[in-house]
Amino acid sequence: MTLPIFLIGARGCGKTTVGHALSQLHVCQFVDTDHWLQEQAQMTVAQLVSKEGWHGFRARETEALEAVTAPARVVATGGGIILSEYNRKFMREQGVVIYLSAPVSVLVERLEAYPKESQRPTLTGKPVREEVGEILAGREALYREAAHHVVNAAQDLDLVIAEIQTALRLARA
Ligand code: ADP
Ligand code: MG
Repeated sequence: MTLPIFLIGARGCGKTTVGHALSQLHVCQFVDTDHWLQEQAQMTVAQLVSKEGWHGFRARETEALEAVTAPARVVATGGGIILSEYNRKFMREQGVVIYLSAPVSVLVERLEAYPKESQRPTLTGKPVREEVGEILAGREALYREAAHHVVNAAQDLDLVIAEIQTALRLARA
């Protein structure tokens, strides 16, 4: 697979986990836009947002997306990457976009089980379940619009990977 693979989806859907596993299987590089931009800025997402606002963060996110996009790479993106029409178009044109779709209950369960790994500034100040539900409802259509393939991310990791590999084979056929 030479085209970059973009993994999109809500916080906790498994972008980092799946991206890492995929890159090992396909012997290609794994990059995470959130990690890239935090290293670049030498700040955490929370610090960036408090210093530059969400607008500043989103601009850095687009910069990160463009910088990390290269052949034979798996790119895990931030949950809000699809809010920008430019980002959606960029990913669709440059590679294969996979939406890791999972119901709110699964996302919340994972975020609560591993709060540290998924630490992000709250977007609404509301309790996790409510916030995740509201955000997903507002973004679901954009994830689907951006995606070439929608994969069930609520399954066990090996099944998620198998579904993606099938989708990638179809994309090549
Ligand atoms: P994202 O990068 O999309 O925010 P992560 O890859 O960090 O999501 O996953 C969030 C948490 O859910 C992690 O602790 C991870 O181990 C767990 N997780 C991810 N995918 C699965 C899966 N298919 N089954 C069970 N747990 C998973
Ligand atoms: Mg992640």
